[in-house]
Amino acid sequence: MEIVVQKFGGTSVDSRSSQEKIAKIVIDQKNKGAFPVLVVSAMGRSGAPYATDTLRDLVTKTANEVPSRELDLIMSCGEIISCVVLSTLLNSMGVKAKAFSGGQSGIITDKNFGSANVIDFRSEMLLQSIENGIVPVVAGFQGITEDGEITTLGRGGSDITAVILGAGLRAERVEIYTDVDGIMTADPRILSEARMIEYITYEEVFQLSNEGAKVIHPKAVEIAMRYNIPVVIKNLNGSLPGTLITSFKDRDAIMSGYKKSKIITGIAHTMNVSQIVIKMSEEDKLLEEKIFRKLADEHISIDLINLFPDLKVFTVNKDCIGKSVAILKDFGVDYKVNEDCAKVSVVGVGMRGVPGVMAKIIEALYEEGIDILQTSDSHTTISVLIKKDLLAKAVSALHRKFELGKREEEVFG
Ligand code: ADP
Ligand code: MG
Repeated sequence: MEIVVQKFGGTSVDSRSSQEKIAKIVIDQKNKGAFPVLVVSAMGRSGAPYATDTLRDLVTKTANEVPSRELDLIMSCGEIISCVVLSTLLNSMGVKAKAFSGGQSGIITDKNFGSANVIDFRSEMLLQSIENGIVPVVAGFQGITEDGEITTLGRGGSDITAVILGAGLRAERVEIYTDVDGIMTADPRILSEARMIEYITYEEVFQLSNEGAKVIHPKAVEIAMRYNIPVVIKNLNGSLPGTLITSFKDRDAIMSGYKKSKIITGIAHTMNVSQIVIKMSEEDKLLEEKIFRKLADEHISIDLINLFPDLKVFTVNKDCIGKSVAILKDFGVDYKVNEDCAKVSVVGVGMRGVPGVMAKIIEALYEEGIDILQTSDSHTTISVLIKKDLLAKAVSALHRKFELGKREEEVFG
């Protein structure tokens, strides 16, 4: 039987009217002949009674140090509430449905509480439910270890659940319902003119989400790519078809007639980045080694790394700046911190080997009087570090420069 995994994010399950829309989608899907498997997130965003942050605050506001095992246990409750609410609604409407926690659905993880890795998916329970015509409603974002501990998969982890189920159940596709029309050329919260992208490759979505576009979890994209499962992102509130994510070949086939693609596909950003610049003597290799080792031992993740003989430049997340500065003080080195920065990344598989992308980025930003503090690049992504308060201006300037507001056929005629 053809299976479709349908995942509903936090804002898609938080009201009775949204839940009824989900029920309608499930009934439509069944009528069309494909069997739906649902994955749900916790209801609502921060502040809502059963949202993940609210549950975590119940304990983190009581004690400074809460064991990660207990944190996962309490944070896993939000999705469990959602899956029971939805399965109950479906049953009340005459659609046979059954709620499953992550563990009950067969998702097995390692013991890395807080951002556990899925190591196995045992599909028997869900397959049995499907064979009996009962729609499984699975709690996203969580799993269970071999010895029965409940774990969570990290922020945005329900996307991972959806794709794992999609792969394990050999689903036709995974549909991710959210509060935007699909993958957009930039975060619509930053740029209202951002345009929906109809077709996009796994590789590009991975780069966008890895560089901060939280519309889908990068690990979910990786898994979808590995198993070649089409993923559709669409708005629960609306009738647009959304964005179809597939491999490049499929996309070419779909787009036949428009073989030319734009060089740049989209822009992503990461807020709350701090830049650290360390000055040191060219001879002091051992000190350099010790500093980077210590940062790693303290689990401080560093990014945008540019090393010169006498200058070491990199960025850390704002949350880690206190810890990082304490380490540099301990070593007694000469350093400078540039707080309140943002990283803007321009992504496109079409930029491979094409000269002039950096020149255009520089033009776009300098025309707006935006200083570039640092850059980094790979085959498909160029990132620039700028001051945080210039973020919206920078995204808008780059969006215009690369004509991202226009469709392919408008650019190529
Ligand atoms: P959900 O709770 O449904 O998982 P998320 O908040 O995780 O929803 O993801 C949807 C959000 O992702 C949107 O509200 C949007 O602000 C943000 N976003 C960031 N970059 C993009 C982008 N390029 N396209 C679409 N949405 C984006
Ligand atoms: Mg999400």
